[in-house]
Amino acid sequence: MKIKKGVEVLKVFNTLGARNNIYPTLIYDKENAVLVDTGYPGHFSIIKDQLANANVPVEKLTKIIITHQDFDHMGSLSSFLERADCQIEVLAHEADVDYIEGEITPIKLTDEFMRKIRKMIDSYSVKKQKELNHILDNYYVKVNKALKDGEEIPICGGIIVIHVPGHTPGHICLYLKKHKILIAGDALTMIKGELYGPDRFITPDLELALKSLNKLNNYNIKTVVCYHGGIYNKNVNKRIEEIIKDELNEIS
Ligand SMILES: [Zn+2]
Repeated sequence: MKIKKGVEVLKVFNTLGARNNIYPTLIYDKENAVLVDTGYPGHFSIIKDQLANANVPVEKLTKIIITHQDFDHMGSLSSFLERADCQIEVLAHEADVDYIEGEITPIKLTDEFMRKIRKMIDSYSVKKQKELNHILDNYYVKVNKALKDGEEIPICGGIIVIHVPGHTPGHICLYLKKHKILIAGDALTMIKGELYGPDRFITPDLELALKSLNKLNNYNIKTVVCYHGGIYNKNVNKRIEEIIKDELNEIS
């Protein structure tokens, strides 16, 4: 779904386990096409089709920004690098680089989690099993550029990196200056039309994650894209203030 000229929010039905749709974002201008997050393993073809529908074929991708190391965000990253017929630069926050490169096992990829995923894969067709096992065996990739808090990527009207740790050490949100859009990753979630903080069951340092949200209010945000939940455009900055106050209160 095109929300501004050069900003397209994709919608991918979640095939590996979890319940809801996920929303990667495509940002593009004349010279650049940037995909923010890549879905679960096995989502390459679905996202490829959606890029084609948006008139930005996958071969046009110049960068992939990964908001953080989790399975549902970097799951198809290696597939893009392997199967898209172009050079793609991978960017992620410096504190999550070692996890994305597999130097350290990603925080939530516990043995138990991986056993569950492998078991689920066993129930698929032989062809699908082969594809998904290949992805898991070639899961980690090199990050070409480690991002820092406050840095601006000078393309597509300016993409500002906001380090919002807590959900993972290197979780980032991206602020699109030109459109006042915040790509929230998992720092914010939308449930039944309302905006909330990160999913507390999969946020190891919830207090830090909520306090990190204060940084977002340095920016005038008109629209939020939640990876889980989609597009929110009510009174964003005010709602973020409420979330910080209410949800910190609940855990104290
Ligand atoms: Zn997620």
